[in-house]
Amino acid sequence: MKIKIIPIVSDMKSLIINEIFYSIQGESLNTGQPTVFVRLTGCPLRCNYCDTEYAFNEGRKIIFDDIFKIIDDYKCKNITITGGEPLAQKNIHQFMQKLCDSKYIVSIETSNALDIKLIDNRVTIILDIKTPGSKEHNKNLSDNYKFLKKKDQIKFVICNIEDYEWSKAYIEEYKLTTICTILFSPSSNEMNPQMLAEKMLSDRINARLQLQIHKYIWGNIRGK
Ligand code: SF4
Repeated sequence: MKIKIIPIVSDMKSLIINEIFYSIQGESLNTGQPTVFVRLTGCPLRCNYCDTEYAFNEGRKIIFDDIFKIIDDYKCKNITITGGEPLAQKNIHQFMQKLCDSKYIVSIETSNALDIKLIDNRVTIILDIKTPGSKEHNKNLSDNYKFLKKKDQIKFVICNIEDYEWSKAYIEEYKLTTICTILFSPSSNEMNPQMLAEKMLSDRINARLQLQIHKYIWGNIRGK
């Protein structure tokens, strides 16, 4: 009997990757967890406080199979997809589906400027609603909020007191506390964390203060 050989077909789909690294998750409800970060190249926004400008253009095309080889070697189940703006590359949806199918625990950090509708339900979304201090708040897509799940998180990067007051009013306008957890993150070098904490306490705001703990551990260095 002739044995039929089924060829192993490698997945030739690819992404433009800026960097892949293993570190401690410094933000979100998963703060403190060892995590593999996959940073994609490219972003259509230009936030005032951006600390990853190197990801705007720098990167190389890597096929899915090779990305998986790199990730698998870290032997860590938590994967965070970040950027840049990861949703700016259309293959990201298929890539995240494959990660979830492979039993990875996947989260994505995305600005609120691109449609989140196609994100796989198994992926935790950290949606960064742009405040006026970013100078990109006119790009916020309010249609996105109906696609958020309970386990997702909405983040506001607070640059100053005006941003804080704007965020409070915005949360109220879109009833965001009924959707998922709200995170307030002081913009480093702009907003004093103590001042933000005191405002949140006095207003009894239904949000969590988060600090970027990777910067406390390693400083503002790349790949950490
Ligand atoms: S969305 Fe993120 S990566 Fe893009 S400019 Fe703003 S902070 Fe930088």
